Amino acid sequence: MANNKKKNLTCAFCGRPADMSEALIPSATTDTYICAECVDNIHNLLVEYRTNSGDKSLNSLKDSETDLTKVPKPAEISAFLDKYVIGQDAAKRYLSVAVYNHYKRIAQHGDGDDVDVEKSNIILVGPTGTGKTLLARTIAKLLDVPFAIVDATVLTEAGYVGEDVESLLVRLLQASDYDVAKAERGIVFIDEIDKIARKSDNPSITRDVSGEGVQQGLLKLLEGSVVNVPPQGGRKHPEQKMIPVDTKNILFICGGAFDGIEQKIAHRLNTRVVGYSTDPTKQRVEREHYLNFVAPQDLKSFGLIPEIIGRLPVLTHLEHLDRNALRRILTEPNNAIVRQYDKLFRMDGVKLTFDDDALDLVVDKAIEYKLGARGLRSIVETIMIDAMFELPSTDIKEFTVTAKYALDQLRKANFETIAASNNEN
Ligand code: ADP
Repeated sequence: MANNKKKNLTCAFCGRPADMSEALIPSATTDTYICAECVDNIHNLLVEYRTNSGDKSLNSLKDSETDLTKVPKPAEISAFLDKYVIGQDAAKRYLSVAVYNHYKRIAQHGDGDDVDVEKSNIILVGPTGTGKTLLARTIAKLLDVPFAIVDATVLTEAGYVGEDVESLLVRLLQASDYDVAKAERGIVFIDEIDKIARKSDNPSITRDVSGEGVQQGLLKLLEGSVVNVPPQGGRKHPEQKMIPVDTKNILFICGGAFDGIEQKIAHRLNTRVVGYSTDPTKQRVEREHYLNFVAPQDLKSFGLIPEIIGRLPVLTHLEHLDRNALRRILTEPNNAIVRQYDKLFRMDGVKLTFDDDALDLVVDKAIEYKLGARGLRSIVETIMIDAMFELPSTDIKEFTVTAKYALDQLRKANFETIAASNNEN
């Protein structure tokens, strides 16, 4: 067995480069190699194949992985999300159904029926830091499939500086340890999809490559096709060996803040209110609730091309997190911030307690400095840093964080100045 680490050699099966493989095994007859990981995968597949009835082909074995009885039902998916994500009930409902239908879709292959359930990629619209990524990540955790997060802003049209659209599949391949079959059932979260909106709703005015070009590139991935992926990412170059990845069964979840989309929704709704209602006050929609009414045409007027919108058929929104939601985020989710610190202290034999006032103060500061849910952690970290530094070297077995202690710690760390200056940037 050749333990070949030469850089330019790759596995002829999966394209994995030599330096990412335990070993590359040379073919006896041709100048090609297979990696140790592919040998393992093939071995496992054969063992499974041999223990199953002989009439199954290797392909049908691959398909049989999608046993619908093993996929959680929408209500179970939503209940699981509740353990990690506070609020956002509409998004949870849509996501749960979309994910369930996605797996039904995979299971339908080979059922001989001519009704084809189409792909149910999802788009989540909602302010930053309200749980879009968290929802997608939690779904992936539940389904135990590879999950990759990609920022749409790093993607560029082929030929421009930046990453090719295919690079988002590289992350998925990495997340599945280059097991292509596994990656082909994974979930990709494309963040900041609103940042690749074209600048004008009218395509004839200017051709804006950074936005529209990337959207065009994304199309083929979203609709499902075989895409050649450069194994190590970055830009494609001609001699590079590509890994073909079929995106047919990859679930794409896109997220974006779509700042200002409320105005577009309001504009659309108010036009309708004037036209159809005799009692406009009854139909008045509170500004912060406009997102409830988000519709595909709002995404279009924001600058997403209709083809992309068509391939993201499940559209739902996330709400602003109010004081009550932020307070719950601190303590309720399975891995709530307070629970994490509790665990850290317990490992040192210290019982940690947060006074309610102290938690209220954390929420107040997150709101005051417009830090949202994301800021809760850094506030608690700032409050706890001294205790975490000092307590392990003492005999103290109990520690209570009071509002006064929390405020003193934040002042000592100049938190207010730091948070305020961060907000200005
Ligand atoms: P987004 O993708 O919408 O910008 P994230 O999902 O990345 O926001 O949220 C950032 C962090 O804030 C999360 O990791 C989580 O700790 C916290 N968070 C945000 N929204 C929620 C929520 N609804 N429930 C629980 N935690 C949340």
